[in-house]
Amino acid sequence: MAKLIICVDGLGRDLISKKNTPFLYKFGKENYFSELKTLFAFTGLEYCFFTGKTPDKSGIWFEFVRSNNSIFKNVFLRFFNGKVRNYLGAFLQLLNKRSYICGLHNIPKSKMREFDSSVREGLWRLDYFQKRSFSFYKWPFFIVKNEKAGEGKIIFKYENDDERLKRLLSVKDVDVYYTQLMGVDKVIHKFGKKSEESKVALKKIDKIIEKYVSLFLQESDKNEILIWSDHGFADIGEFIDLFRYLPERKDYLYFIGGTTAHFWFENQEVKKEVLEVVKRIKSVKIINKEQAKKYKIPLDEEYGDLVTYVSKGGYFFPNFYQAKDGERFASMHGYPEDKELNGFLISNKKIPKKLKMNEIIRYIENG
Ligand SMILES: [Zn+2]
Repeated sequence: MAKLIICVDGLGRDLISKKNTPFLYKFGKENYFSELKTLFAFTGLEYCFFTGKTPDKSGIWFEFVRSNNSIFKNVFLRFFNGKVRNYLGAFLQLLNKRSYICGLHNIPKSKMREFDSSVREGLWRLDYFQKRSFSFYKWPFFIVKNEKAGEGKIIFKYENDDERLKRLLSVKDVDVYYTQLMGVDKVIHKFGKKSEESKVALKKIDKIIEKYVSLFLQESDKNEILIWSDHGFADIGEFIDLFRYLPERKDYLYFIGGTTAHFWFENQEVKKEVLEVVKRIKSVKIINKEQAKKYKIPLDEEYGDLVTYVSKGGYFFPNFYQAKDGERFASMHGYPEDKELNGFLISNKKIPKKLKMNEIIRYIENG
């Protein structure tokens, strides 16, 4: 018996329908379909899935943390922008033996040295995988571990979802197959939930999954299928240019993501000034201790002395990820818990109708 686990990034529970995703709809009806309560998290979702640890327990929440000894202090990074800087950044991470690679996006040159990736090890290093033989493909890392040997490869060419599943399943005789598909997330971000482009992307991913799930079940009808999504989307109705409001001072540092903004202060005076600014914007909220507890997120200094977020439908633009006009998103995730943002889990193995992200490990641990 083998397990095929597929994460379809961004395919919210509310996007599964008879019309748009006929295979997933049918497979869920004939087997088991569970609504998956998402978390107010970004990078931490897959970690939560495979460890059962929510971000407050794993410390992994947002992709970047403040760091005094960031590997991105490297002088070379200061001379380049865009794609070249991204490649250099990836190269630096590999040189430092990292098995998780983050992009450097549009983080300003002057601030890059202050931040480092919160994740440094790939998912396959987790216990869940290490206890088993596996084929793992989270682009660009394609890792195989079986009786013969452990083998890792970096795939330089960007591969689409069909190519990912093909490569993943080209390996024989392992316990677990895992990959993450990114096509849907990219399209919905860019065009919005209700766009024609998104409808086409949904139909396409449904067909691709159908093809490989059928092949996998042909090999043995005892094989287990787990298809899940980490979160859904909410279309953006409010664009907030935070840079316009922030004071021009040198005694504080900030990181502006799409839905969160993180601040570090050198003194109380600047903290007061920034607080006044953010409090004036109605849809911007400050994360307090109670909310951090409720949403199970770490309120560590490395994520900010002050962490703010925008309520559902709001979007900080420009931000450190999308800054140029053509990069502006139409739909977003990364808001506090909300039904619209929930994901799903479909399986041919019995699972409850409602599940939290940190409860799944119980259902994938056996076998
Ligand atoms: Zn996304």
